[in-house]
Amino acid sequence: MASRLKMASRSMAYSFLLDLTGVVIDLVFVVFYNNIILYTDFIHWVMDSLLELTLLIGIYLASRVSRRYPLGVVFIESTLGLVLALSILGFYFYNLYSYLNGVLNGSKVSEVNAFTSIATGVGIAITLFSYFNLRSSYGRQGVELLRYESTHALMDSVASVAATVGILVSSITQSVALEILFTLILTVFIIHSVQGILQDSFRIITGETLDYKTSLLIMNNIQDLVSRSGGAVKSVEARRLSSFYVVNIDVYLNPETTLREAHRLRRKIVKKVTELSDMIYHVDVRFYPQPADEMESKGRALYYPGERARRKR
Ligand SMILES: [Zn+2]
Repeated sequence: MASRLKMASRSMAYSFLLDLTGVVIDLVFVVFYNNIILYTDFIHWVMDSLLELTLLIGIYLASRVSRRYPLGVVFIESTLGLVLALSILGFYFYNLYSYLNGVLNGSKVSEVNAFTSIATGVGIAITLFSYFNLRSSYGRQGVELLRYESTHALMDSVASVAATVGILVSSITQSVALEILFTLILTVFIIHSVQGILQDSFRIITGETLDYKTSLLIMNNIQDLVSRSGGAVKSVEARRLSSFYVVNIDVYLNPETTLREAHRLRRKIVKKVTELSDMIYHVDVRFYPQPADEMESKGRALYYPGERARRKR
């Protein structure tokens, strides 16, 4: 699993770099040729890079299976991502408003330069390349996030085609109406990208990532395993982040359990839990000494209300 995730995060990093290339190419043209279609395409590239970066950080952290999943870092990263995405969106809408205002005042004529379609044309190539890269990587690693991202890359190819057609058509016809039409089409792609960022960040920030059904499923599947080792499950928290689960399991263990036994139990738990679903990427297991009072009152067999966790030894 670990190496699968490592490979997956490598593919994601690769496509993030491709995205950055797209940002730079568009930026060069945006600086020299001021046109709203290209500008909208540029904001889309920026937003996608931001989305990709947050997903990349998430999967990279999950790939370090020997370390605890740093939910605090993910929380901060999500908050930053959210603020940044909304700022860029606000900035974009302000500019779009100014542009439309100019059009309505009649002070604006279409000044789309056909030359700028080079940037969006390269964009088509980049997004298609990214799509095939992510899809073949999904075929090899089977990591759900890659499939999600490959679908997005394919959508981005459509966006790049729309931008290219928009630039060519409005430069030929000099029609402001067509310019606006294609700009609005591209705005939909920006919204889609922002929605991806918002959805995840909101869930993470509000703590709504906790998935009770999956937590319960995991609980039911490891209880026998844990009680056979003389312990009891203290708590199971399965959190859903973007398109994968990070699981936190706390286990009570008899304080006399040897480290070797504890390690073996941890390995068994991780194996069992990751086998439950393809989307469970990261399992943290923490051990706590069994509370003394419960050990005494139950003769070292931990009682678990209404559960099968009652030790049989
Ligand atoms: Zn996109």
